[in-house]
Amino acid sequence: MEKLTVHGLTVRETEVGEYDKIITLVTMEQGLLSIMGKGVKSLKSKNMAACQPFCYSTFTLRRSGKYYYIVESELSQCFYGLRTDLDKMALAAYLCDVCADSSVEGSADPALLRLTLNALYALSEKDLDLRLLKAAFEFKCACETGFQPQLEGCGMCGCDATDTMYLDIMNGRILCRSCKDQAKQEAEAAAPDSDGTAQYYMFLTFGVLSAMRFVASAPVNRFLSFSLEEDDVHLFAKACEKYLLHHIEHSFSTLSFYKSLLL
Ligand SMILES: [Zn+2]
Repeated sequence: MEKLTVHGLTVRETEVGEYDKIITLVTMEQGLLSIMGKGVKSLKSKNMAACQPFCYSTFTLRRSGKYYYIVESELSQCFYGLRTDLDKMALAAYLCDVCADSSVEGSADPALLRLTLNALYALSEKDLDLRLLKAAFEFKCACETGFQPQLEGCGMCGCDATDTMYLDIMNGRILCRSCKDQAKQEAEAAAPDSDGTAQYYMFLTFGVLSAMRFVASAPVNRFLSFSLEEDDVHLFAKACEKYLLHHIEHSFSTLSFYKSLLL
């Protein structure tokens, strides 16, 4: 009988009948992994706690036919603070969705999972600005999954005019104003019928660019250790969300729900 031990974060669940759930984990060892939680909806189940959303646990699994079943589980971290605050819980659901979407079955990405666990921990235990936490997670997630933009100097001429830089979202680089104008003209000439190219260049203040440089280069356990002037927070949040969603190529219902709470 094939046995497997994994450390995994519960990111999604699908109810099956009265007592069972199919649980989607993002694991350190196997990337995305769906398992059958037999009886875990019952209060009597010893595996109930580990199968709750946003819980990080160790699972011993046994393969039988199509599914892995839980032999035993041990809860490591439940991020209790998320359960007492609707905004935090909604944001956690979005972070988990992004993590799941960026994970691949059978392919471990420990840095992405650690990033998500660190973000959930900060969300649960610390009193951080949720706009900054969300944005930094989005940007770091893009960086960790192969879309780290080139942020050192203008991606066309190499200059370092840090107070007049634009983020070129499609091409993952920053551009100075004149190179941005030139790139935009060339893009419009190449595809005259396309509209909305302008939105793919976002002006960055020096503060926002510095924050992006910090987040891109920081280790995953330190990526939230920065602050930003209030005037820059909105711009940073907008740029990071746009950057991640452009590269993921779709939005998330959990993101729409989180935003609806802020209205
Ligand atoms: Zn330039």
